[in-house]
Amino acid sequence: MMNTAPSFSEALDIKGKCAVVTGSTSGIGLALARAFAREGANVVLNGFGEADTIENIRADLADSCGVTVRYSPADMTRPDEIATMIRDAEDEFGGVDILVNNAGIQFVAPVDEFPIEKWDAILAINLSSAFRTTRAALPAMKKRGWGRIINIASAHGLVASPFKAAYVAAKHGVVGLTKTVALEVAELDITCNAICPGYVRTPLVDGQIDEQARVHGLPRDQVIRDVILAAQPNKRFTEVEEIAGLALFLCSAFGRSMTGRAISMDGGWTAR
Ligand code: NAD
Repeated sequence: MMNTAPSFSEALDIKGKCAVVTGSTSGIGLALARAFAREGANVVLNGFGEADTIENIRADLADSCGVTVRYSPADMTRPDEIATMIRDAEDEFGGVDILVNNAGIQFVAPVDEFPIEKWDAILAINLSSAFRTTRAALPAMKKRGWGRIINIASAHGLVASPFKAAYVAAKHGVVGLTKTVALEVAELDITCNAICPGYVRTPLVDGQIDEQARVHGLPRDQVIRDVILAAQPNKRFTEVEEIAGLALFLCSAFGRSMTGRAISMDGGWTAR
């Protein structure tokens, strides 16, 4: 690959590439979109939110980074909209080079009370959409001979917690999908990996803190320490920028041989 070891900035060359990040109007996805844009990649944002807020994010990212930033309103439960998102990216940028399957939702209930529509929605958004985007984006990656697929799974892709049947099933499924895709394209310069964060402080987790505070009748601080971070040995939330840093590594030349992996970023949670 290289005669002399490059510096990290030399090894990371994604200028002009196209990165599609699902669920990037908030949280981890937005941090990833920012990180790719800062490194010179054109970005397709996706996810829900107020139109004005999303347009501000889009315009700010484009102006501050000097890249093209588009927004796709595709709903990850809608196969036709997912296909349109990938097709539009290919029409404008020639292909999707970096695909991040990040959109996700959570719902917590005992399995025998789990609402069927919540199960269906979690499986559709957290798992099936990753299959659909990958299926649509891979042919152009193969043609162009380079691609990075990053699936944002979870510690719950590796271990379970009670009351999260749909989330745990979907995230384990994402890890299985990751391994399969990686094997199918291993001889090409295309990698597929899953990042498995523990708790990251985002709106998704803020919602869980509120819910647990209500259920247990505890103050938020105590819920964070004794409930949310109980299984996370380093006792702090992972920052969204840490996840983005790992994604950049996977897109660099140093990440080229890393494929088919479920990479934990969970403060030691799954080391137990
Ligand atoms: P978040 O709620 O901040 O962001 C979720 C994003 O997904 C938003 O942009 C939202 O609009 C989008 N989204 C939701 N439903 C959608 C749909 N039907 N179609 C398109 N977009 C949709 O959450 P987050 O914490 O940033 O989570 C991002 C990913 O990281 C999820 O897959 C989540 O499971 C995973 N994850 C999060 C944590 C954590 O602690 N926050 C830990 C492990 C894994």
